[in-house]
Parts: sequence; structure tokens; C-alpha cells
Amino acid sequence: MNWAQHVYLYDEPSAATLDASILGSFIKTLLPEIKIAVRDSFIGFHFVSLSQEERKRKIDYLAEELAKAKVRDPFKPLKKESPLPGEINYEKRRLSAPISQSFGLLYDGIEIINILRELIPKQERSFKHIHIIFTNQLFGTWDEANHRYHARVLICSFPSLISTTGIVEAPAKPREFYLLKKQYLSVGMPDIEGIKFQYKDQFIDYDDNRLTQVMKGYVMQALFYHLTGEPFCEDKNCRLYNSHWQKEVIQAQLESPYEFCSFHQKELQRLSDRLKSISI
Ligand SMILES: [Zn+2]
Repeated sequence: MNWAQHVYLYDEPSAATLDASILGSFIKTLLPEIKIAVRDSFIGFHFVSLSQEERKRKIDYLAEELAKAKVRDPFKPLKKESPLPGEINYEKRRLSAPISQSFGLLYDGIEIINILRELIPKQERSFKHIHIIFTNQLFGTWDEANHRYHARVLICSFPSLISTTGIVEAPAKPREFYLLKKQYLSVGMPDIEGIKFQYKDQFIDYDDNRLTQVMKGYVMQALFYHLTGEPFCEDKNCRLYNSHWQKEVIQAQLESPYEFCSFHQKELQRLSDRLKSISI
């Protein structure tokens, strides 16, 4: 088996409370034999080795591809229509500015992964290498059963993609939060910040101080996917729990009495021993 020995974590510079180097150290304590590199944003890392002219050409190409990957209607599968010049220009601006904010547009996550995969250097394009990309882009996947897109925090693939916007928007907030928001809006009082403040302990918000701590679990889900094929766990207190609600994210990543269930602690030991034996 072609075993992964290298992990690359790509930072999202717009996420002020995300510390990718802490995540790198966290992996290192669990799997000491794995080699970890924390890199600039995925696009920034790729662009640094290009000439001015190559960079411009690449931006033109990527802007069009990304604009095609935008979900126009969450109730219809992506058709990859020809984007308007304004949409392409929006993507160009985002690609040119390393700390550009995302404006809540939803993208097809699988398409994004296909676009980004092409940028991975050839020598790192094998299963010996694990690429985990943080992005502030909001992405989703098409759900055939419900016939709609669902926003996601993580897509495990090659590369794996983790959204710092998705962690706020994808897992559902308490039902009361939505009810209150609807009530406020119906009487013309869109005091969303006020409602957010009231529920602040019950969900992860933008620039949340707990973001790095929460992302430990998502990075490990991506790693488990690459190393074992199974990213998730049934235990609500294990960092590998596949949370659909914000309260489940908080339980698994922040309030659990332990980091991993006993099964996954043993799995980590087994993976660590395996990595040690192949690195000798
Ligand atoms: Zn577990």
C-alpha cells in the first residue's frame, strides 16, 4: 500500500483566529512520524513560483473555472453555465487579494477540488502526500436524496477541503435561533447581531476564538480518511464525530471529556506504529 507520510496544511489568511501551526503541532503529537508542512494559502503557495505573466494567465483561467463552479440555484445540480464578465472579475479580485473576504456565495465543493487538484505540484500528486486546504469559500455538495445542495465544513478528497465559513454556516444552529431571527425580520427588526449575542455560546461564529480548537477534529477527519478510508466516528464525544448541529460540534470539539474514543486512540497508536515501521 502506498502510505501517506507527508501532510501539507494550507492556511486561510482571512481567518484571523485560525492558527495552522497549532494544528500542525497537534498532528505531530498524535502521529510523530508523519512529516508536516504548514504553508501559505493554497493559491498563494502556488502563485509564488510563477512569473508575473504566468500568474496573470493562471488567474484568468482559474477565475473562469471558479465562476462556473458557483451554485446559482441550491435546488438544481450544477450546470456549469458560461459565467458573466462581472462574475469572472469578482473571482479575479479574490484570487489577486490574499486576504479577501468571502461573500457567502455557495460553490460546488467537488468542482472546487477538481480545479485545485490541478495546481498541486506533480511530485506531490500521489497518495504519499496529504493536502488539507483551509478556505473561506462556502461550498456544498449535491444531495441526490433531498435534491438540493447542502453546505459542508469538510470534503474528504485529494486534496481535502475545510471551510472556515462552512463551520459557521453548515452545522445547524439551535431551532430557537432561527425562530427568533424570523420573528425579528417579520417585524422589521433585523437585529441579527443581538440574536447572535444571545446564542453566542451555542454556535461557532466568524473569527471565533475557539476556531483552531474546533478545527483539530476536522483536520483529523481528513487524515483518517486518507490513512484508513473512514473519517468519521459514531461517538458524540470523539473528535471524529460527523456533527450536523452546532451543539454537536461544540460537544465533540470543545466540551468532550476526551479527544478520541478508545477505538480511535488505539487506531492512532496503530497508525503511528505503522508510520514508524515504514520510516525506518
Ligand atoms: Zn472515535
